[in-house]
Amino acid sequence: LTDLSTTCTVDGVRTQVNNWRTTGQSIAFVPTMGNLHAGHLSLVRLARSVADRVVVSVFVNPTQFGPGEDYARYPRTVQADRALLAGAGPMADLLFTPEESEIYPLGVEQAIRIVVPGLGDELCGASRPGHFEGVCSVVCRLLNVVSPDVLVLGEKDYQQLTLIRRMVLDLNMPVRVVSGPTQREPDGLAMSSRNQYLTPAERMLAPRLHATLETVRGALRAGRKDYEKLNALAIGTLERDGFKPDYVEIRRGVDLAVPGDDSAAELIVLAAAWLGRTRLIDNLRA
Ligand code: AMP
Repeated sequence: LTDLSTTCTVDGVRTQVNNWRTTGQSIAFVPTMGNLHAGHLSLVRLARSVADRVVVSVFVNPTQFGPGEDYARYPRTVQADRALLAGAGPMADLLFTPEESEIYPLGVEQAIRIVVPGLGDELCGASRPGHFEGVCSVVCRLLNVVSPDVLVLGEKDYQQLTLIRRMVLDLNMPVRVVSGPTQREPDGLAMSSRNQYLTPAERMLAPRLHATLETVRGALRAGRKDYEKLNALAIGTLERDGFKPDYVEIRRGVDLAVPGDDSAAELIVLAAAWLGRTRLIDNLRA
């Protein structure tokens, strides 16, 4: 086991990070909601490769869940997370597991929020109103606590990645954002803490989300530009497979804008779909 310190206080993080800074070491930060899997670990490994020290946070952020969403049942497995990080070789140096009151000292109701206009209300923001406001609010708070040189995020949550890059730019936040690719199960299903909600029958169907995105990607690579038609076809496929899709959309990779006939733009296809009580998201760059 490696030397993994754990703290649940803002002061604890700041003291450790200041010690590293005074000896000239750089810091990378991987925020998570815990229930760590190989996708998270790939980001910790990436963080390790871009900085001298790695801080990982585990915090199930209440402000990014809407009413009726899975905040109460979201898997909380901090002891296992800690063991996984400590047992994974020399990867993380500090685990931050704050209580809600450390991150929201005035309480969630009084919390100052970051408004995310435009893209914040599209795609996942359309089905989850206020979600990205909660995401940006918590990432801003965590960055103020950790003050890392590098923020490491997963491409699995591509809209989140895009919006956090936008926040960092717009608020002149002194941090570099680095992203890592989506880690998948052997059958193509993107790894996610929410996969464990799936029944065995749903788990069998779940890889069809990725397969459907691959079909769309194939069509885009073959030169098709009838994006609306491709979106609609993919939604039909998912419905026939037993999903309830929230959306399938082809967007520009650089900013998630709706693509025009500007054929040079790099494209990405993104989807969110329900299987029973579980909401799955995924994306593929064309
Ligand atoms: P979460 O714990 O779901 O909030 O995710 C924490 C970080 O891990 C985010 O930056 C996610 O994009 C990233 N992440 C989640 N799942 C994966 C995956 N399958 N592959 C790579 N990164 C992931």
